[in-house]
Parts: sequence; C-alpha cells; structure tokens
Amino acid sequence: MPSNSFGIRGYLIDAPTYGSLRSHRDGALVVVNGKITEVGAYDDLKKRQRPEPIRWIDRTGSAIVPGLIDCHTHLPQYSAVARGESQLLPWLRENIFPVEREFTGPKARQESALFFREMARNGTTTAMVFAAIYEDSCDVGFEAAEQSGLRVILGKMMMDLGSYGQLQPKKIVSVSLMESERLCRKWHGAANGRLEYAISPRFAVTCSEKLMRGAADLAQRFGVYIQTHLSENREELEKVHNLHMSARDYTDVYEKCGLLTPKTMLGHCIHLNTREIDAIAAAQSNVAHCPTSNLFLGSGLIKLDELRAAGIAIGLGSDVAAGPELNMWQVMRSAVDVQKARRMTDPSLPLMRPAEAFHLATSGGARALGKSGVIGTLDVGKEADLLVVDLPALLPYRKENALDDLSTEDVLALCVYRGNPAGTLETYVRGHNVYRAPHCPKPE
Ligand SMILES: [Zn+2]
Repeated sequence: MPSNSFGIRGYLIDAPTYGSLRSHRDGALVVVNGKITEVGAYDDLKKRQRPEPIRWIDRTGSAIVPGLIDCHTHLPQYSAVARGESQLLPWLRENIFPVEREFTGPKARQESALFFREMARNGTTTAMVFAAIYEDSCDVGFEAAEQSGLRVILGKMMMDLGSYGQLQPKKIVSVSLMESERLCRKWHGAANGRLEYAISPRFAVTCSEKLMRGAADLAQRFGVYIQTHLSENREELEKVHNLHMSARDYTDVYEKCGLLTPKTMLGHCIHLNTREIDAIAAAQSNVAHCPTSNLFLGSGLIKLDELRAAGIAIGLGSDVAAGPELNMWQVMRSAVDVQKARRMTDPSLPLMRPAEAFHLATSGGARALGKSGVIGTLDVGKEADLLVVDLPALLPYRKENALDDLSTEDVLALCVYRGNPAGTLETYVRGHNVYRAPHCPKPE
C-alpha cells in the first residue's frame, strides 16, 4: 500500500460555508493515493469491507482539519519580521528593500528551505508567495518548495520604479518580463501540478504602466496567476493618484493594464470605494485579507462585510514580514479582532466568529485560488491536505478528558485563539506527510 494511502481517526472539523462548522467527534477519513475516498464516523468506516485492508493512524484526541491556506506572503522577508514598526512606504524603504536586496545566492537557498519547513510546522499546506526581484531567488524558492512537499504558488517580484536592483532603468522592464517568462516555463505545473507560477508585479507605486501591461499579457499567455498589492495605506493611495492621474482610482490602474482577472489575488484592499469593489467583483478577482500585517503597519481595518456582500472570494494571508508570523491561527485571530474593532464604533456591523475566520483560512482561501474542487474541506474527492492539531497542547492545563465538555465551536475557538506551531502534530499534502512533531508517534 503506498504511503499516501491510509485511514486516520480523530475529531474532524471543517467549514464548507461561511458561518457554519461540520464535525465528527470520533470521525475518520480514508485516503487512497492522496485523495479522500471516505469520510464519516470511525465506527462506521472501520466496519466497512474493502478490497485491501487499511493502515489506520490513530489520532484520537486530536483535531483533523483541512490544511491551512496562506494567500499572501513574502519569502525573502521572513528574517525581517517584527522589525521597524512604521507605515508602509518608509517601512519598505528602510526595513524590507535592504533585506530583499540580500536575498540571493547561498543565503536565499538556505532561508528558502527553512521558510517552507516553518510553514509546514505551522500547519499551512498551500501558499501564494512573492520571491525577491532576482531570478535565482525564485528558482531556489521553487526548489525548496518542491522539497518541502507543500503546495506553492510562487513568483519573481517585478518592479521597475525605485527598485533595489542594479539594472539600467531602460533594461529593467524587458529583463523582468524575460526572467518571469523563463521561470514560468520552468516551474508552472511542476511536481505534478503542486507548484504553480504567479506573475508578481509588486504594486502601482513601483511598477510602470509598461511593466504592468507586460505582466498582464504574460499571465494571459500562460494562463497563470497574478498577485499584487492594492489599497493598503493612505500615503500609498496618494502616491498612486499622483503617478496615474488619468485613472479613476487605484483599482482602475490595474484594470486598465489588464491585471484584474479571475486568477488575480489582490493583497489588502482596505481603502476601496464602492466602484472599486464592484470592479473587482465583476472581474472575479480575489482578495487576500492580511489582518496581522494591517495591524502591525497600522494600515487600516478592512470592510470585509462589503467585499463579501459583493460576492468577492476572500482568503487570508500572513503577509510576512509585515505580519510577524507564518502562523495562520494567529492570522485568523487577528481577522476576528479587526472586525471586533470596527464594531466598537459601529455596532450594526456583523460579528466575525472563529468559525468564519477558519472558513476564510480553508475553503475561502481555496475558492480565492480557484481550487474549491481540490482542497479546503474534508469532502470525498478532495486531495488530502490535512492538519492534525494536538488539542491538549493548546489547553491551559493538559488533563484527561478535558475536551469532552467542549462543543465543536469551543474546540475551534481553542485552535483560533491559542493555535501555534506547538499544536501542530502532523501536516499532510496529497496524503504525504510533510511535517511530524518530534513527540508524535509514527504510524506503523
Ligand atoms: Zn505583501
């Protein structure tokens, strides 16, 4: 029996829709060749007759949830987390560009391996990631992602205005497009589709119209993702307005260049007007909400209810290094806190609960990445991207039967409010184990 075929027993929890949880307290999944083939109560699944006997992994007392999805983060920035708490533009100049500038050669290779290892330890199974501007930073990023076993969408950072690179301004656009195309041809669809490419213009402050149009054209030719930043900070909005005087608003800059597509992931989207929200919805583009980052840089509080009401698909992003951790439980916690903070001044706004944040970090993120049919829930037919959470490790006191009195909502709230890498027992992608805690018993 292949290693990615097994049965696993534990407390199943997922959130296929916004605002509701589905669970089996003593549940089980059967995984065959990396795909979920059976889901239900352990007692029922155990009794079933099958052509081949199943190898059971007993994770009683742990929660089994869909692998967490990080829709927006930066590979070269991880070493700069928690540094320089200022506003976006000075923070980029003073703290981030110097770190990205160094992200090449052996340093990039070494840090990439650690970065994806850390992601798996945090229970993240899918991530959409920016590399630095160098071709090699993206190449070694993909090599590390391939090794890690994670599902990764990565792209070389593109910028031609105020870049930290050494190229002559005249050459920047053509070289950036050529390198992106080369990387896209090499990596998009690699590792049996586990690795994919995202054309990655940084944002309208550091990209000329020529570069953005070229980027959009490249994405269309190869049918790949686009990732960028939109409407994060007031000073940024002002800059974009001055750079692109003919545009109706910030979103219009991207619209005119062809960057709004159903495969586009827009990071932040905090200060959008109604026209912009409608334009994003009409283009079926997607939003990565990055609450830890928005709080760290004091960028603002996203109007999540308005984006949701427009029907926009929304996932969550750690946005390291503006977000201080890769821990998606912390990102969920902050997503809840951001909406709580908004309600303090306007009690008519909807409350966000842990279940809703959990939805955004799992099936919401899957939808935003166009992968609803593949990942995000524990349904039969999905690929087995799973996180096994050591629930007793999250309790204030480890004691027998402490979980018996908790409802599914309580258990999920425990994960969201206290979840951290020490609670990750195992992480699986396509049924392959990509992380196992040192204290976790190995399956036979
Ligand atoms: Zn970002």
